[in-house]
Amino acid sequence: MSALAPVLDRLDQSLDQSLGRLFDLLKVKSISTDPAYAAECRKGAEWLVADLKTIGFDASVRNTPGHPMVVAHHDGPAGSPHVLFYGHYDVQPVDPLELWDSDPFAPAIKEIGPDHKVITGRGSADDKGQLMTFVEACRAWKVVHGALPCKITLLFEGEEESGSPSLKPFLEANAAELKADFAMVCDTGMWDRDTPAISTALRGLVGEEITIHAADRDLHSGEFGGAAANPIRILAKILADIHDDTGRVTIPGFYDGVEETPSQVLKSWESLGETADDFLGPIGLSVPAGEKDRSVLELVWARPTAEFNGII
Ligand SMILES: [Zn+2]
Repeated sequence: MSALAPVLDRLDQSLDQSLGRLFDLLKVKSISTDPAYAAECRKGAEWLVADLKTIGFDASVRNTPGHPMVVAHHDGPAGSPHVLFYGHYDVQPVDPLELWDSDPFAPAIKEIGPDHKVITGRGSADDKGQLMTFVEACRAWKVVHGALPCKITLLFEGEEESGSPSLKPFLEANAAELKADFAMVCDTGMWDRDTPAISTALRGLVGEEITIHAADRDLHSGEFGGAAANPIRILAKILADIHDDTGRVTIPGFYDGVEETPSQVLKSWESLGETADDFLGPIGLSVPAGEKDRSVLELVWARPTAEFNGII
């Protein structure tokens, strides 16, 4: 029998207790963007540390200039790989509250269709639900086998929903402690509820703000139109030039170092059968706007993109 099978059995047998622990964490109002919830964020970190200690992790709340990190270590057999596992315990704000069918911090299991149950509650799908699957997997493995199969470090932050300002300095300051052979991120999703997914890459983000300076006051178009430069027109021209007619980004060097997706990977994505209509239909669109002749999945999973996120 494999080492995994009895662990999966154990997880099935103890599902109610696992859900109970997840619900306890979901009740914590760890909204990182609102300073009014700072104490709740700390409560989330402290809850995790207390829970991880029950599994035998050497766990601690680690202060940062913002919300605290949770760092937890567990030894593995000599010579085993060291796995770093990242997740976040903070959640998105919940307003507007009137759009919720139930209290976002009163988690519940709801039947939303035949044989289709979901957990409702803020953070259940991002990221408390995911991070607790890993914690519960460690717990079950330890109960069944008495030890973990490799050295594991958990790193849970409380600022992912507010831009992770403390993450980089924390990683730099604790590089030796957090150095690992693999890093796993659980802040991802499944393909659909029957098909698990392994995300092997995530897109990063680089931002730039452009300010157009023109006249030093608001102008009447009847009096100044045509003679005075219109900043909206200038900005629109700059933005329009960032993509060519085939959807390619024209910024020099933008695609430097971007590798073509291997054909066998494209083929496996094709086998998912997702059409542009499937992907864009639910948001009221049908025509992909990115680089021509690439599938929507390749556009969002493998290609870099230049987007405009607001005009003031
Ligand atoms: Zn997340």
